Amino acid sequence: MPITPTIEARRLDTLASLDILDTPKEPAFDRLTALSKRIFGVSMSTLTLIDGHRQWFKAEVGMADRETDRRPALCSLAIAQDTPLVIPDTYEDPRVTDNVFVRGHPFIRFYAGVQLKISGVNIGTLCVMDTKPREFEAGELAVLVDLAAIAVDELLLRNLSMQCNLTGALSRRAFRAEAQRLSSLANRHHHKLTLAVLDVDHFKQVNDRHGHAAGDAVLASIIATCRNNLRGSDIIGRIGGEEFAVLLPHTDLAGAMTTLEKVRLAIAAESVDTPCGPVPVTCSFGAASLLPGQHFDDALHNADLAMYSAKSAGRNRVIAWVDAAPSISPARRRVFKAGQITFNAGRSTFDCTVRTLADDEATIEVISTADIPEQFKLAIASDGLSRACRMLSKSDNKIDVAFV
Ligand code: GH3
Ligand code: MG
Ligand code: MG
Repeated sequence: MPITPTIEARRLDTLASLDILDTPKEPAFDRLTALSKRIFGVSMSTLTLIDGHRQWFKAEVGMADRETDRRPALCSLAIAQDTPLVIPDTYEDPRVTDNVFVRGHPFIRFYAGVQLKISGVNIGTLCVMDTKPREFEAGELAVLVDLAAIAVDELLLRNLSMQCNLTGALSRRAFRAEAQRLSSLANRHHHKLTLAVLDVDHFKQVNDRHGHAAGDAVLASIIATCRNNLRGSDIIGRIGGEEFAVLLPHTDLAGAMTTLEKVRLAIAAESVDTPCGPVPVTCSFGAASLLPGQHFDDALHNADLAMYSAKSAGRNRVIAWVDAAPSISPARRRVFKAGQITFNAGRSTFDCTVRTLADDEATIEVISTADIPEQFKLAIASDGLSRACRMLSKSDNKIDVAFV
């Protein structure tokens, strides 16, 4: 089954709802790759998720990196078909004999991958690989299929938990339930209610420089600081990897802005003590009040837009969403779309994942921004969109662009 733009869009929606990309290793998944490696006596095993532009390993044994380009990935071949992909000897299979991961590092000679299917789409694989060719018998494949089914169960279970172990914040699901309850109450009794979204600034750099354990310590400390500066009745939820939402009941926008400013200053003032020494961090905030009769999702969306303008305005600030504020692009949406960057008169192309999209701007992620010029073309097949872009800013793997 080839991956059409429609299937790709559904695949990425499903992946986004799992909220798992770029999260730290977790024993439940590490156990599955460790077990697969031992059961089959191979040198490598990965639990791979296929993002728009890359393959990313939630768990791996025997690999040097946690992500690589999507295009040559053998797991990309696997997710394009419905039955497991078994290649006893990559040198004998014309689809992959010249593959960079076969001829180059990690020198894959044997590959067997079983699709992880959720909501009818393949989001990734559980696979085993070796640098030597190898037969894979039907009985062995049946075991790998069972292990992949366990991986799917774990992925689904992970999203059911009510609380985040690291920070004590409510899970996204629990937060939504609470927010729904409190916003209908506020609507019924005409109470004020304000929602805020908080995103850690340049958090990827914290992880890259100091390691994930330090990153985790930073997250725990940020939420502890939030709690110390909020009321007991305020509710904090973890709505993404390093994104949190705060629900401030009985609080109008002005009151919330004062509180959030206090939280922001407190976070910026303290360096978090981690095993690697003190790490300074800041956060960007967006706030929006629930309008009469409004659904909390809409207020959360407005808070999110305000948070994005806090990022664009230089980070480490609190911005309020007010109707028709000129600084906030109402059309900016968080998206999760596979895209393609082209330059050099169409001769050079790179895969990317589009993370936010407005009429005149976008944020895109790539494996590396090193070889990407200031001007290029961006295409999103699922939307039939093609736009000339100018780079506004970039980090190692992320580019902000304006459409020209
Ligand atoms: P920006 O200022 O634009 O928000 O930059 P950023 O680097 O924070 O942006 P981005 O959202 O791309 O990066 C978020 C990073 O958060 C990616 C991932 O490595 C990290 N992350 C997500 N969840 C966790 C977690 O539970 N623990 C740790 N240590 N890192 C996490
Ligand atoms: Mg973020
Ligand atoms: Mg961030």
